[in-house]
Amino acid sequence: CGIVGYIGPKQAQDVLISGLSKLEYRGYDSAGVAIGDGACINVRKKAGKLANLSGELEAQPLLGTLGIGHTRWATHGLPNDTNSHPHATEDGKIVIVHNGIIENYLSLKAGLIERGHQFRSETDSEVLAHLIEEAYQGDLYEAVRTALSQVRGAYGIVVTHVDHREIVAARTVSPLVMGVGEGEMFLASDVPALLPYTRKMVFLHDGDMVVLHDDGFRVTDLQGNELQRNIEVIDWDA
Ligand code: GLU
Repeated sequence: CGIVGYIGPKQAQDVLISGLSKLEYRGYDSAGVAIGDGACINVRKKAGKLANLSGELEAQPLLGTLGIGHTRWATHGLPNDTNSHPHATEDGKIVIVHNGIIENYLSLKAGLIERGHQFRSETDSEVLAHLIEEAYQGDLYEAVRTALSQVRGAYGIVVTHVDHREIVAARTVSPLVMGVGEGEMFLASDVPALLPYTRKMVFLHDGDMVVLHDDGFRVTDLQGNELQRNIEVIDWDA
């Protein structure tokens, strides 16, 4: 339902919780974050209000300057801690959040299980983590692109890999907007999450993929062709 991503010099936890709180108005049943510190990506997620999660994070912060966060409105699988996003691969190296519905997830899941993947959640979203893992050969962007060529449905997806200081995202139907800062980059499913940090936004189009680094971004289509997307300056208030 709600997505926030951050890469830059700040502690990601603060940006993610603040951003997710600005998206609470949309409704949700669970919340979670994944934060990378260079050595590993730590996931913390909980059913219920964002305050449940943020209370735990205040008591025991996750340190790191790259992160992705999600508020879930369950469509496939009960609203519980396990089904909350982010979802990680078994080795914990690849972590994703997803908005929308993967329509062909049952057949994708059956194939992945046959090929040895173990699922933890009942969500449609978890297939994305396993498909990316299967396609991964050292280039996260290419792995996400290959994975997405197999899925049907609606998605705003945001992905990170422990070995890369970057965030890869893509959208079809579900909205995603990028925030451009000075030496930092943001992503969200809606503008209010980003307004405290930057007014410079790039609205991603249907079928766009994007790679975020601390100091810039690259947009392509799902076939890998480079695209030009303008930075718009938002002058309205949150
Ligand atoms: N279909 C996914 C799930 O049920 C994502 C729902 C959402 O957009 O929050 O976990």
